Amino acid sequence: MTLATDKPLALKVRQDFPILHQSIHDHPLVYLDNAATSQKPQAVIDTLRDYYERYNSNVHRGVHTLSGLATDAYEGAREKLAKFVNAASHQEIVYTRNASEAINLVAYSWGLNTLQPGDEIVLSVMEHHSNLIPWQFVAQRTGAILKFVELDATESFDLNHYESLVGDRTKLVSIAHVSNTLGCENPVAAIVAIARKFGAKVLIDACQSAPHMPLDVQAMDCDWLVASGHKMCGPTGIGFLYGKLDLLRSMPPFLGGGEMIADVFLDHATYADLPHKFEAGTPAIGEAIALGAAVDYLNAIGMDTIHAYEADLTAYLFARLGEIPEVRVYGPQPDSQGRGRAALASFTAGEVHPHDLSTILDQAGIAIRAGHHCTQPLHRQIKAQSTARASLYFYNTREEIDTFIAALKDAIAFFGSIFG
Ligand SMILES: *Cc1c(COP(=O)(O)O)cnc(C)c1O
Repeated sequence: MTLATDKPLALKVRQDFPILHQSIHDHPLVYLDNAATSQKPQAVIDTLRDYYERYNSNVHRGVHTLSGLATDAYEGAREKLAKFVNAASHQEIVYTRNASEAINLVAYSWGLNTLQPGDEIVLSVMEHHSNLIPWQFVAQRTGAILKFVELDATESFDLNHYESLVGDRTKLVSIAHVSNTLGCENPVAAIVAIARKFGAKVLIDACQSAPHMPLDVQAMDCDWLVASGHKMCGPTGIGFLYGKLDLLRSMPPFLGGGEMIADVFLDHATYADLPHKFEAGTPAIGEAIALGAAVDYLNAIGMDTIHAYEADLTAYLFARLGEIPEVRVYGPQPDSQGRGRAALASFTAGEVHPHDLSTILDQAGIAIRAGHHCTQPLHRQIKAQSTARASLYFYNTREEIDTFIAALKDAIAFFGSIFG
């Protein structure tokens, strides 16, 4: 990595993010809640604004000029997303509101229509509620059974336990690529290979990997992959589902309405070709186009560059957190280069309540998250009611980590003096 001699990545890109240049409670904002949502570069904001100022129009319907411009940009953004995850075809990319909707699409369209009583769905105990509740719905309605992969000794995905759970009854495996709480990177290649032995389908929740590392759905060989635009520099209200073409073809529509049809009669209809079959109604047009701009922005930096820079930050974050004896970080440690896990740390600090910690840090301009991070079952598993979480992105600096650590030490000392 050349970053030590060169200017660090964050210093080159921070000027692109207008929101970062402000004070909160008279302190420069230190935004460390990127696992919840990322900030947006000017290029994305401009793209959204440009759409509404110059060519706002409905897609796929009109023959007028503006509708043509909107349709081209909307479909162009889909091509960008397809390349971003290395899908074989743009028809394999379905726009959704977010990752949650993408998982629900698979659950309702494929799950409800395919699963039989006694079929098994394998999830893990670390799944985000978005990759749990839809499968609870499906299990309740079909009689399918949910099975959960436990954590190993390093608080990571237990591959041996996974292997012991998967068998002839397994019809679906749905797992996070990277955990939003533990930060562990799950072994997708092995997960898919084991599922394939039994003909089970695999869905990968890439919400915490798509923003941070290169993705290749063909190399992963997963059946579906989902992500949210708002965590990867894009707007809210737009996400996507990748699915293998033949599989998407075999799945019935999820929502009915305009845009998803071919021929409509009063009592029946035929459906549009992929991906439009799954895109009922007027979509989030400007948001999709702006997500395309986010993909351009990330590609211009390079996902490898982002991943390498964040590994460097991870090593530094963990080294600095290690200075504080009261702090207990959950999930695996990074290797010496900061690799093998995400640039985030969910932690507790002795008796200090994570919400109090977050409130005190906010007074110093530092945004961290406190709570269960939509992983309540996991928090029960690790025996913490809630945790504090600092999560980084490529625009964060070592200096911001220093500011965070200093404020964290002050907060722990303050609460120590009250309770101690
Ligand atoms: C954020 C997140 C989700 C849900 O994303 P939404 O944008 O809220 O739909 C699902 N899984 C993981 C791992 C996440 O981090």
